[in-house]
Amino acid sequence: MGNSLSITSDVDKPKIFECPSCKQTIDTASTQCRFCSASIDPAIAEVAAVRMARINRACSDASYLKIAALCAPAFLVILFVPFMTFMGELGLIFLEFAIPIWIILWCFRFLNIQTDDPDFRRAKKTVLIVTIAWVFLVGFRFIGR
Ligand SMILES: [Zn+2]
Repeated sequence: MGNSLSITSDVDKPKIFECPSCKQTIDTASTQCRFCSASIDPAIAEVAAVRMARINRACSDASYLKIAALCAPAFLVILFVPFMTFMGELGLIFLEFAIPIWIILWCFRFLNIQTDDPDFRRAKKTVLIVTIAWVFLVGFRFIGR
């Protein structure tokens, strides 16, 4: 784990991918799929593994974004708690700026992934919902001012 800060570390190299013929998750080190016995080209396996890692990253980033967005209602409630207004205000200002940056970065990194992976589709939907929620939040706050 001592090398975990290094981006190019071997530890971080994706080692699993989807078998092209049966779609089961298998190891890039195998020369044959252990589910359907299809032979595996190591070069193709590596490309597929990198791609799968990107999709997984896109999904986890989207879920972090969702968690951050879910803080907004909590901050809105805090606004009405005596002596806590400042904290609520601070949190909302942070989210108003951080969420769009986060969304743009996500789109920039992951939107060009071509896949029909259901998890990735769900992640895209999550980002879209957060975008809509953000528009409502900012709109609501603008009217409130
Ligand atoms: Zn297979």
